[in-house]
Amino acid sequence: MPLLPWLERELARRYTVHLLPAAGPERDAFLAARGSEFDGLVTSAGAGVPAALIEALPRLRVISSFGVGLDRLDLPAAAARGIPVGYTPDVLNDCVADLAMGLLLAVCRRIPEGDRFVRAGRWERPEELALGRQVSGARLGIVGLGRIGRTIARRAGGFDMDIRYHARRAVEGVEWTYEPDLLELARWCDFLVVITAGGRETFHLIDARVLEALGPEGFLVNVSRGSVIDEAALVRALQERQIAGAALDVFENEPRVPPALWSLDNVVLVPHIASATHQTRQAMGQRVLDNLVAFFAGQPLPSAA
Ligand code: NDP
Repeated sequence: MPLLPWLERELARRYTVHLLPAAGPERDAFLAARGSEFDGLVTSAGAGVPAALIEALPRLRVISSFGVGLDRLDLPAAAARGIPVGYTPDVLNDCVADLAMGLLLAVCRRIPEGDRFVRAGRWERPEELALGRQVSGARLGIVGLGRIGRTIARRAGGFDMDIRYHARRAVEGVEWTYEPDLLELARWCDFLVVITAGGRETFHLIDARVLEALGPEGFLVNVSRGSVIDEAALVRALQERQIAGAALDVFENEPRVPPALWSLDNVVLVPHIASATHQTRQAMGQRVLDNLVAFFAGQPLPSAA
């Protein structure tokens, strides 16, 4: 996967860089011929690093990943070889939280729907655009109160929202109410924002039961990973108006989005852009570089997973 052009240039200036072919026969042949030459591997949260790739790089000493998600990085396989894995936490908290709030507002205030309405020349009949749902003062449930979840909660405080959260354990020293039961949180809230880690532990955490608990007045926002939501159950819930709407940045089989969602007005769809600003991507790229440079200088990685 190509990285930011400046990062590719900077890596090439400092190191001898080879671009790994996409997974498949070409990659396999390349690794068989040259796999033993590489000391470092740069990847991304989306591309990840499977155990087989680590195995095919017998000299590998460091991995530096662009992104904060660890669900596609085989950390145990890296740890077994004593290979530190760098990633880019914190620098993207603001942008991901901003997008979560943007999606929340977009879906319940019908912003994309209103945009389509104006462009279609339908403003002559304003009664055809349904009223939205007020955000200020509403109840917000956050699933996953980590670095980004806390940033979202702070944003939501500015909207005077009543905030509760669910995670496997309560977070010390925060002002928001912990709800140990996810179903209870879904029942209580008007908006459920999902920002847990991905991976096996959270696979389909948001299932048909949670959606039913969210109910016909409830909105779902997902900026975590597509795997956290049972997408088939979500499609059904949206089609049958079991929930009020959903705004999604991530999907189970990206870049494929269920066609059933395309025609629904109660859905906002964006293509995994939560960290996609010049400022945040620059900071992420810098952290990728900083992690590598620190390692080759014999220092600990600034951000090790
Ligand atoms: P953190 O590790 O700081 O937070 C993860 C949160 O998820 C913690 O609160 C954790 O709490 C919770 N969690 C983990 N497992 C479970 C579980 N089984 N049930 C309930 N809660 C759980 O990560 P960040 O906040 O930095 O990032 C969160 C995720 O956001 C990333 O892993 C990534 O996948 C996604 N992301 C998406 C982006 C996008 O472009 N859309 C960009 C950046 C990140 P506890 O351990 O107590 O359960």
